[in-house]
Amino acid sequence: MSRPLVARLRPGALSRNLKVVRRLSPGCRVMAVVKANGYGHGLLRAAAALEGADAFGVLEIEGAVRLREAGCPHEIVLLEGLFDRGELAIASEYRFDLVVHQEDQVAMLEAAQNHRALRVFLKVNTGMNRLGFLPERVEAMRTRLEACAVVSDLVLMTHFADADDELGVGWQLERFLSIPSSGRLPWSLANSAALIRHPATRVDWVRPGIMLYGSSPFADETARAHGLEPAMTLESRIIAVQHLKPGERVGYGGTFTADVPMRIGIVACGYADGYPRHATTGTPIRIAGRRTRTLGRVCMDTLFADVTAIPEADVGAAAVLWGDGLPVEEVAAAAGTVGYELLCALAQRVRLEEVRE
Ligand SMILES: *Cc1c(COP(=O)(O)O)cnc(C)c1O
Repeated sequence: MSRPLVARLRPGALSRNLKVVRRLSPGCRVMAVVKANGYGHGLLRAAAALEGADAFGVLEIEGAVRLREAGCPHEIVLLEGLFDRGELAIASEYRFDLVVHQEDQVAMLEAAQNHRALRVFLKVNTGMNRLGFLPERVEAMRTRLEACAVVSDLVLMTHFADADDELGVGWQLERFLSIPSSGRLPWSLANSAALIRHPATRVDWVRPGIMLYGSSPFADETARAHGLEPAMTLESRIIAVQHLKPGERVGYGGTFTADVPMRIGIVACGYADGYPRHATTGTPIRIAGRRTRTLGRVCMDTLFADVTAIPEADVGAAAVLWGDGLPVEEVAAAAGTVGYELLCALAQRVRLEEVRE
């Protein structure tokens, strides 16, 4: 028997989550974001389950090529555009669309010769201050891009910094609308949080990521509340049981001390699998279908679960680290991070298995 840790993926959940996106944004084109190896779900697997999308958003051109060579007929958008000149020939050959967020990239397109024309998403920095041109520079870039033979058409794009909190998107939308050509170009605005919370952003091209995987972009709302279901369940088993006497400690540094007799289940999952080492005592975990807590420090290959109140939880008992009945956001919160990070950080060594429904 092999190590019991496995990430079970439900392609059906991905396609149902995509239907939620469709219901929320009727008439919009959906660019399903599959960067970071499909948020840990496997790039090709995720894309196959999301074939009902209109386009896929990826970061690395190698991933885009893999998608195309696997037979993906969809539009594929490079979310940070070209990283160097050499990528243009590949993008053109494989029919990728490009984000253009800085001037070097405009120059690369101006220098292009005899390439098939591509759609360009012209990125505007409306306050996130990460990538994109300030609104006052957009017209100049638009003019230059429209003069490029390699540019077939333009979409105006921006990204929100506060779609999930009380500041919202209004302040950035206002800056976006100040661009003179914003009225005549199509737009791409919404990530998951904006799409769910801010109807004004459901236009032309929406760019959902995390919600497709069934995780919530919000700290204060579950994915389930929006009809989304987790596509990944990280599962393992108890591989040993220890009995603690009062006063005995658990794991490296002994950060947890039993004050009563306890039973501890050793679960085959650790930080080398992508489970967060910062998850403290009390992080939720499901053992034998019942919710309990982790104890002490997470090790490289194992972690400790309190099974004192779950007498049936013996060696071989099932453990759910996140997913079914335990949202990844809850585990993330206990580790001071977000569900995104845990999904994306799933280690290469974890087996992925698809669950057919
Ligand atoms: C990652 C990303 C998204 C998706 O964001 P979610 O919060 O996962 O929905 C959308 N747009 C861009 C530009 C991104 O980089």
